[in-house]
Amino acid sequence: MSTPTTNPFELPGEWLKCALHTHSTESDGTLAPRHLVQSYAEAGFDVVAITDHWRRTVVPSTDRLITIPSAELGFDLKYPGYPRQSGEFLVYGISDLPDDPGGNRDNWMFNAEENWEARTFASLSAAMQWSEAQGAVSYVAHPYWNELSIDDLLESEGFAGIEVFNGSAEVENGRGDSSTWWDVLLRNGKRTFGIATDDQHYPLFELGLAWTMLHVVERTPEAVIEALRTGQAYFSHGPSIFDIALDGDAVEVTCSPARSVILHMEQECGVSVSVGANGRRMGQILATDDAGLITRVRLEPDQASPKYRRVSVIDKYGKRAWSNPL
Ligand SMILES: [Zn+2]
Repeated sequence: MSTPTTNPFELPGEWLKCALHTHSTESDGTLAPRHLVQSYAEAGFDVVAITDHWRRTVVPSTDRLITIPSAELGFDLKYPGYPRQSGEFLVYGISDLPDDPGGNRDNWMFNAEENWEARTFASLSAAMQWSEAQGAVSYVAHPYWNELSIDDLLESEGFAGIEVFNGSAEVENGRGDSSTWWDVLLRNGKRTFGIATDDQHYPLFELGLAWTMLHVVERTPEAVIEALRTGQAYFSHGPSIFDIALDGDAVEVTCSPARSVILHMEQECGVSVSVGANGRRMGQILATDDAGLITRVRLEPDQASPKYRRVSVIDKYGKRAWSNPL
């Protein structure tokens, strides 16, 4: 396995709480852009990307909160599922949008009543070429919710990662967790990263459902985009990861009180430690809280030279935090 060079927990800098998938009244969201940004600031967020559908909605950054010019765009699938012919991606750090991105117009949609539109690039790779030319960074949106073909993702280049958890999809129909897609990409050698988002359209029951913690060297939009590009992140809809220390292939994780901590690897590999009823110890618990929940643990791979390692932490409510591949 390649030696990790960018464990964010071992680098100087600070962590920013980021909302990376939100919709305003410029598309099908219900908060005006200025109110959206203000709501996230008051909810304790440091960064907001307004990702309206085919709109570049810009609200200036403030002393308290960094805004990133962003959008949610589309691409035609090479291996379409039924009935879905296209996928979506989130792009961060754009300066403009193309009027004609070049995709199949049969897949373009305009919904005046709900105030959104969708256009497509001809493929995910074509979309990523445009994204790179903008100096932007892109993540494929909600693969499980869309039931995207994994082959489109395996054959495409240029996306930094995927939206591993989408909070509003989880609430809407239980299709929020796309980590299966991520594991297949990682097992096939595609070193991709993850984000968790709330995909907020309706703040009353979506704002803050999930978030991404980015590790930056300074509080600037450029540093935020660089952290997305290099995967300097962990992401969550509940627990916090305070530290991941690497010791050869072993990992030591320090976290908010957890029922279970998992070291994920390819296929049938990987180990976990859990407590409570039916708890299982495939590693060493180093510390617990007064209730016996795990706050520090050491896990070692159950096979030599794993293709990848990533960590997840599950709290007593079943909520999860994910590390990027280590
Ligand atoms: Zn969206």
